[in-house]
Amino acid sequence: MGWSGYKVHLTETCEPDAPHLITHVHTTPAPVTDAAVLQDIHTALEGRGLLPDEHLVDAGYVDAGQIRRARHDHHVELVGPVKATTVTAQRAGIVFDNTRFTVDWDRRQAVCPGGRTSVQWREARTQRGAPVTRVRFAARYCGPCELRASCTNAGWGLGDVRAPSLTNQSALRGVLAEKQASSVS
Ligand code: SF4
Repeated sequence: MGWSGYKVHLTETCEPDAPHLITHVHTTPAPVTDAAVLQDIHTALEGRGLLPDEHLVDAGYVDAGQIRRARHDHHVELVGPVKATTVTAQRAGIVFDNTRFTVDWDRRQAVCPGGRTSVQWREARTQRGAPVTRVRFAARYCGPCELRASCTNAGWGLGDVRAPSLTNQSALRGVLAEKQASSVS
């Protein structure tokens, strides 16, 4: 079954003590995803001096790349629900999910649950073409690490650095954890 028709994205102010005003209307063909238009919406709002400090959106617009782009390109904090992991072992807590890694986007580094700092940071794509950031840690630390069974199933002999990898989803959670921490401090 395919999609036909069109989709409308409305941007509206939501100040509690002021009238709510529609500041932008963006129309696309129906199959275009929400995430694909967010950058255009922010660019249009910026062109008219209407960018908000915080942009509240639903889950279709949120991933780590969007948070990073909104923050770095437009100085907008994107706020919206985050999809939970679908990996059963991670949900059960047997295998670390990416929330256990702390991400420093500015330094392009991550710190693992064992307290080690990453040695490689690389932009890549998933098999479905989604952008991801892959982070690697030094084999000399991962090899003897007592947390390794919960962290990675990478084999030996792949070079002096190797997995685990850190996807944008993990980075997203890192960003949200950072936001939570700053909001309670
Ligand atoms: S296996 Fe490597 S990345 Fe994972 S916790 Fe241990 S040192 Fe850190």
